[in-house]
Amino acid sequence: MRFEEFTTRFVQQTGKKEGPISPVMINSASFGYGNSETGEGIFDGSIKKPLYARVGNPTSGQLEQILASMDGGIGAVAASSGMGATAMATLSLLRAGDEIISIGGLFGGTYSYFSETLTRFGITTRFFDVDEFTAVEEAVNTATKIIFLESVGNPNMRLPDIARIAEIANRYGVALVVDNTITPLSIAPLSLGADMVVYSTTKIITGNASALGGAVVFRPIRDGEDKFKGDRYRDVHPFIQKMGSMALIANAKKRALRDFGMSANGFGSYLTMLGLETLPLRMDRIVSSVETVAKALYAKRLAVNHPSLPHHPHHNRYRDQFANGCGTLLTLDLGSKEAAFEFLNRSKLITITANIGDSRTLGLHMASTIYRDFDEPTREFLGITPGLVRISIGLENAEEIVADFLHAANI
Ligand SMILES: *Cc1c(COP(=O)(O)O)cnc(C)c1O
Repeated sequence: MRFEEFTTRFVQQTGKKEGPISPVMINSASFGYGNSETGEGIFDGSIKKPLYARVGNPTSGQLEQILASMDGGIGAVAASSGMGATAMATLSLLRAGDEIISIGGLFGGTYSYFSETLTRFGITTRFFDVDEFTAVEEAVNTATKIIFLESVGNPNMRLPDIARIAEIANRYGVALVVDNTITPLSIAPLSLGADMVVYSTTKIITGNASALGGAVVFRPIRDGEDKFKGDRYRDVHPFIQKMGSMALIANAKKRALRDFGMSANGFGSYLTMLGLETLPLRMDRIVSSVETVAKALYAKRLAVNHPSLPHHPHHNRYRDQFANGCGTLLTLDLGSKEAAFEFLNRSKLITITANIGDSRTLGLHMASTIYRDFDEPTREFLGITPGLVRISIGLENAEEIVADFLHAANI
């Protein structure tokens, strides 16, 4: 399992050998410069000291370094939430008239951000299923600035072929942004050819509902040829000239973080690092529990959707490209809203909430909550049936989860 390589690294990176072992939490909103010369140096970038918490906080800085090393990036920028991170990654590249190609089932907030909010600013998004490779290629034009995908369709559980989509993005010179919230450590999007990785650290990374947060991890701009040096990304060129390999970070900080203020806070980043220390252990346990639960429920003829099951359309992709699992989620179709409510209400383990990736098993009826404002065709596209319940498996004993679910389903 890929998780093993992170067990040593994360605890060593968060703790210190001298002085305070737990990460030092700095919550100051502003920082004194001492003298005007230092102030000038901080603003022109020649002195690396904190400027103001909206554009960087030292505790968040430690978290950013760990997240960048986790994904093999050149740097990361922490954000106030996962949506803040998605906004930062996308707004740093977009201007009115641009287009986004969005692939796969989308987190509800991201879907409304693309389909409702960005359209008000003249930015169009076209949505495709994970396997519509030809249609995606045909949709690319000179206005296309971003191909966006989620590593696991939430809640449709469809799996993208990330390397193949990255190949298309790179062939056409379009930036690929991957939301890897559900599969940190399992999937390494930058090594598969992505340019930016977006996280909601609120979910499995922190893992216990203690902190809202997000982050974007960036790849370096390459010496020689690089798609960001092409005409499509003229707005990024000044940052490439000034910052070289670090350009995408500087661009995101100036074009999004500084001006929109989706900044992380020190306390949240501290709690997120405490979560990171145990992330590999929790991922390892949960991806194996999810398979156990899916298999047991399927054996009892419940309509369970998870790619580890042989009849799932992406079972082969799960086996070949998701060897470290696809996160904490599975879905159950109970057939009707009434049956779904009864299942959730009868369960003694499930915490009913919109969150995912927690130490506890969580569940939610989709159509009456996150997707209630969506019209019927959109719900169908996103795979939201009337009886659909999304489950995020937690750290409880897997056999106890199975027993609880069977009882809840009157089996
Ligand atoms: C929760 C979630 C987000 C948004 O994150 P917040 O921290 O709630 O803003 C984005 N993408 C995915 C896949 C998520 O599950």
